[in-house]
Amino acid sequence: MKIEVFDIPEEGLDIELEETPKIEGVKINKSFKAILRIEKKGAEVFIKGIVSGEVELQCSRCLKEYTHPIKTLVEVSYHPLEELNREELIELKKDEMDVDFYREGLIDTDDIIRDQILLNIPMKPLCSETCKGLCPVCGTDLNEFECRCEVKEIDPRMAVLQKLLRRMRKNG
Ligand SMILES: [Zn+2]
Ligand SMILES: [Zn+2]
Repeated sequence: MKIEVFDIPEEGLDIELEETPKIEGVKINKSFKAILRIEKKGAEVFIKGIVSGEVELQCSRCLKEYTHPIKTLVEVSYHPLEELNREELIELKKDEMDVDFYREGLIDTDDIIRDQILLNIPMKPLCSETCKGLCPVCGTDLNEFECRCEVKEIDPRMAVLQKLLRRMRKNG
């Protein structure tokens, strides 16, 4: 949905919308919901609200696809890109956490939702905090079965120590 900044009334605007933004590499099966309060002060537009929905991600441990819920607060102030000079831009970036810009008097709510989704996708997605992952030897999903592989988990720092110890023994 595109919001015309000019059309935002003095008393502000409350909108509720459902959108499914297209994001490369992110699977979204159900549309996202956004409940937004939009206010205007001069050319500056403040948007506050909640964005919620779910994305389909692949667990980084067991590689299974799972549904990852996202519910996040939005608080952004929008400035007209054309009316700012460089110094003003730098000042804004220093002052406020979430600053964004609009062009040609239009704010696209699709972008708000897309940004929130991108900000809230974990670097290492996990289907569950306790996911046991796959056996590195035979590939069994350890959430479902137990295998008999012997997996020695060595902390990399420990590995360095062990190497040193071995060398010392050899020399001594
Ligand atoms: Zn998992
Ligand atoms: Zn195994």
